[in-house]
Amino acid sequence: MARPKRDEFAPAIVATLQFRVGTLCSNPKCRVHTTGPHTEPGKVTRIGSAAHITAAATGGPRYDPDMPPAERSSIANGIWLCENCATLIDKDAAAYPVELLKQWKRDAEQEMNQRMISGKAGSQPTPHMDIDLHWKFGGRFIQGYSKKNPTKVIDGRETIELQADGPQIIHWRLSWNYDLCLFNNSLQHMFNVSVEVGKPGFEELSKLEKINNLPPLKGITMSALSIEYMEGTAEEADPLLLHPYPARMEGMTLRISYRDEHQKQYEQNYVLSKGNFQPV
Ligand SMILES: [Zn+2]
Repeated sequence: MARPKRDEFAPAIVATLQFRVGTLCSNPKCRVHTTGPHTEPGKVTRIGSAAHITAAATGGPRYDPDMPPAERSSIANGIWLCENCATLIDKDAAAYPVELLKQWKRDAEQEMNQRMISGKAGSQPTPHMDIDLHWKFGGRFIQGYSKKNPTKVIDGRETIELQADGPQIIHWRLSWNYDLCLFNNSLQHMFNVSVEVGKPGFEELSKLEKINNLPPLKGITMSALSIEYMEGTAEEADPLLLHPYPARMEGMTLRISYRDEHQKQYEQNYVLSKGNFQPV
């Protein structure tokens, strides 16, 4: 049996579909870049394709028997997608009807037009910083013995009497050492990144160079330290150290500011919540 005839797109149509959306996947939930560098310097890695909105051949997804072949292989029937999304829309055609795909295409082209006019890149606000607080090590250190332990007067001086088997009440210094990682999760450079921490803040935070440049998809790591003092037994101190940071720091704010290559100033705000800095 002969293979059913496929109404393929001409190469010029494939290229046009691709560049009208800036080589990004047209699925609004995806928007992955479909071209990039290959390890061989003369090659490009491509993970995109011109997908048919109504199938190229009889029996294919969303096939429209009434559509003339010339229309089936026309640019109006194509949409640029990454390979994953191209597979997805064909595996479950009912979930991705013709009208939805046409909407994706319109939106992707409109979005690319906006970006071109505004000179901004990326569907996420640009540039964009991600913040991570990584606990590294910590512990409790004895600062002295509390007068809440039994005392006895020796030579006229009140002396703390420690009981070998009893609970010892101690002045503790509890410490949390972290890496505070700033990651430029965008394709734009960030210049003169600065960090402002709200109260109660860290006891120590390493400084950034006053003049700096954080390139796309790169990070800077700052070291940070929190300290808490408490008076109690080891059994009372240990549960506090199980938290990723002192409880009083929950809700602490962080403001990152930087400039893009056009000297435009950006600010991003974060709040420490449930173990990490969340954007607000
Ligand atoms: Zn995709």
